Amino acid sequence: MSITPVMPVYGRCEVAPARGEGAYLFDAAGNRWLDFAAGIAVNSLGHGHPHLVKTIQAQAATLMHVSNLYQVPGQTALAERLVALTFADTMFFTNSGAEAVECAIKTARRFQFVAGHPEKFRIVTFKQAFHGRTMTGIAATDQDKMRGGFEPLPDWFTVLPFDDLAAVQAFMAGPQGEQVGGFMVEPVQGEGGIRVASTEFLQGLRDLADEHGALLIFDEVQCGVARTGSLFAYQHFGVTPDIMAIAKGIGGGFPVGACLATEHAAQGMVVGTHGSTYGGNPLAMAACGAVLDIVAEPEFLANVERMGRRLREAIEQMIPNHDHLFKGVRGLGLMLGIELKSDSRAFVNYARSHGVLTVAAADNVVRVLPPLTIDESHVREFVERLSDAARAYAPPLAA
Ligand SMILES: *Cc1c(COP(=O)(O)O)cnc(C)c1O
Repeated sequence: MSITPVMPVYGRCEVAPARGEGAYLFDAAGNRWLDFAAGIAVNSLGHGHPHLVKTIQAQAATLMHVSNLYQVPGQTALAERLVALTFADTMFFTNSGAEAVECAIKTARRFQFVAGHPEKFRIVTFKQAFHGRTMTGIAATDQDKMRGGFEPLPDWFTVLPFDDLAAVQAFMAGPQGEQVGGFMVEPVQGEGGIRVASTEFLQGLRDLADEHGALLIFDEVQCGVARTGSLFAYQHFGVTPDIMAIAKGIGGGFPVGACLATEHAAQGMVVGTHGSTYGGNPLAMAACGAVLDIVAEPEFLANVERMGRRLREAIEQMIPNHDHLFKGVRGLGLMLGIELKSDSRAFVNYARSHGVLTVAAADNVVRVLPPLTIDESHVREFVERLSDAARAYAPPLAA
């Protein structure tokens, strides 16, 4: 096997987008796809949104980057907006979701250290979780396909079954319970197959954290930023974390993330404990600000909820017509998963030939993650295209 200029860590498909417009991608030959993948929940405003484009253009021409050694007024202003919109009192800006998760874990570890509990070094996470591809991110999941060849990894994560409060209660009552300094969970698992946690589970984790002096971390890198119909998923459940990692949708395509925390949880994050060269630079902050201008508006959130309901109903109506292939639909807002009776990767590949982009996830799930700006016409077109694809599709024979 010969080496390629780009490391071949992705199995890339044939689609080569050259430009985007709203919910559509086009290649150089003019072929068009309805983009219900949105860069994996990143292009929250679709492609080429005029407000986002103008804001980035203007900021790039004014000031793109300065070091965090200097004052960055745009960073303070954005943080103040996010403080006003969330549970958080403070935050650290990153360039990706994995770095936001890394900062969340470091914040929890430092909290226990300065609180005089260095013995609470353990972080409980959950099966099928995805927390990014850093060494700690892969240490925090049980998924062998990401961990293989990287062991030994940090061994202070304990992975318990998702949405199974009794299992967590049992672990906390056991000998390692007093080592637990934090719980980290995706309120809606993304890569793990669009699994929505129950409110009882999340509230149970909140109660256990309070009882044991541990912190509750929500990884909202995929489900945050209006994706579920509330600005952040925790607001939908009515369960408030101490720390929250966000990224993906917040930049609308610009690479940026953040780790949000309460003042209490962030007490260990003092001068010298963390840093990032690019994190929170003026260009990234301008992009986030432009996205927030739009997605934080109550009418926008109400529309995400409405479109989420329409899309789900339309998928539910389509399922019985293709019951050789589709099993059911689950999710929240515009973060939906269609469960298949056969391999979802093969069907996602096939659906591209019918002009529609989706993303495969674990457990035979087709992830449906459209731009949050879609309207009824996109919902209709999606279901038509997916129906056509399903009608023509012959699942590969089981091995
Ligand atoms: C995508 C994702 C990450 C990692 O984000 P990157 O920007 O790829 O580093 C972490 N957690 C969740 C829940 C994600 O969906």
